[in-house]
Amino acid sequence: MDSAPTSAFMDGCWTNIEKQFVVRSPSNQQAVIEVSDCGLPEAEQALQATTRAFSTWSRTTAYQRSDILRRWAERIQDQAENLAQRITWEMGKPIRQSRSEIHTAVTLARWYGEECKRITGESLPSQFPDKRLQIWKVPVGPVFAITPWNSPVSMVVRKIAPALAAGCTVILKPDEQTPTCALRLAELWAEAEGPAGTLQVLPSSDPAPLAERMMADPRIAKLSFTGSTSVGQKLYAQGSSTIKRLSLELGGHAPVLVFADADIDAAVAMTIQAKFRYAGQSCVAANRLYVEDAILPAFTARYLEAISHLKVGDPFAEDTDIGPLVSEAAVQKFKAQLQDALDRGARLLCGGDTQGLCCSPTLLADLDPQSRIFHEESFSPLMPIQEFRSEAEAVARANDTPYGLAAYLWTRDLGRAYRIAEALQCGIVGINDGAPATPQAPFGGSKLSGLGTEGGKWGLEEYLQLRYVSLRLPEEPSPSI
Ligand code: NAD
Repeated sequence: MDSAPTSAFMDGCWTNIEKQFVVRSPSNQQAVIEVSDCGLPEAEQALQATTRAFSTWSRTTAYQRSDILRRWAERIQDQAENLAQRITWEMGKPIRQSRSEIHTAVTLARWYGEECKRITGESLPSQFPDKRLQIWKVPVGPVFAITPWNSPVSMVVRKIAPALAAGCTVILKPDEQTPTCALRLAELWAEAEGPAGTLQVLPSSDPAPLAERMMADPRIAKLSFTGSTSVGQKLYAQGSSTIKRLSLELGGHAPVLVFADADIDAAVAMTIQAKFRYAGQSCVAANRLYVEDAILPAFTARYLEAISHLKVGDPFAEDTDIGPLVSEAAVQKFKAQLQDALDRGARLLCGGDTQGLCCSPTLLADLDPQSRIFHEESFSPLMPIQEFRSEAEAVARANDTPYGLAAYLWTRDLGRAYRIAEALQCGIVGINDGAPATPQAPFGGSKLSGLGTEGGKWGLEEYLQLRYVSLRLPEEPSPSI
């Protein structure tokens, strides 16, 4: 892995701050990096720089912004392997999955580099002969962005590429576990000739005061947050005093419904991926597996067989499928949810053990519906499997959650597929597809999973506001026709 900057990136400069905090790799807890720890003085400096930069960046042409974004995408592509290694070092994602994250990030940056050339307004027919009515789309203003650790490159790009494409400036506070992925992206932005102050990165070990400062400041027009529902709720409340625009991408509790007529091999293969990718540490990870009673024994046997082939361990090894969890706290949560299910009578079908931060893929059956695993995100390779007997029961169980991000279903019956997709309460549905997310499509949830949308043209609209302009023409002598 190459070296990455560890200072804050403010107003186009690397700013070394005396106070530092330590980042420890989950893959090797001895290895550490020390990173600048930003607080309130840096927040104020960044606010001044973002306001200054916005006054010029918002007036650049879409074609100028497009050139910079596309150069940035190519710089990310050039550094793909280094960035992938950095993801694996910082949060423990298996290296093949980190490479695929970089591919997503490059695709997103390229996509928004193109899409900003298609920000178009409208012209309305007028009932007044002397009036011209236009709708412009203008950037909302400086944006404060907060990102989590679980996709520390693609999640950052999915937020900041549309914001910068729209003509907004961004202050980014990355997760304290993954600051150097974000700092490296800022370095590449500078190399792509992104102007000073357009993107600033402020790592912090104590995000709450920094965020409160930003949320109270009228110079920030919008918050874009990805993280837990509990933090999202706090930020939602903090945004009220200045009526911030908000995009909140929060937690999920995705159900998987497998009907008896499904292609079982495909359902097993993709459900394994939907659950165990990133060791289950994804907001769209499958959290609950519901299988129609007629095929439950056969499906369970094949699922167990597929799990037995998953390789757990060193995330830098090319053949690893499941790396370590991000922290000891995450391992403790895995153990607590498992013990809670077992105490309520669940049967352990495989797994259940841990080694360091690695948890083996674990399947539980015969669960009490009150088990914690049905009500809390697992964010680990812990999976409950249960049967259902009817379509109505499957839908009721799937919707029995305060979250509404993703859901997956497996059937060959097209009518049923549509009936269920229409009845599900969530933002993303994969029909015979365990990986529906793609850069040009909307990504976002309902209920406690959040507000607003990332991805595609909708992700760009989040950073634009309408301005209605009515022009009354001066009176002119009527032309003789
Ligand atoms: P988290 O909410 O603890 O942290 C996310 C970010 O918020 C980090 O940058 C953190 O520093 C910051 N933060 C923490 N406390 C804060 C506070 N009081 N004020 C301001 N910022 C604060 O979440 P996490 O546990 O690190 O990440 C996992 C969560 O993120 C899961 O719930 C997951 O579902 C969710 N997530 C959602 C999506 C999505 O697109 N919907 C994507 C990835 C992760």
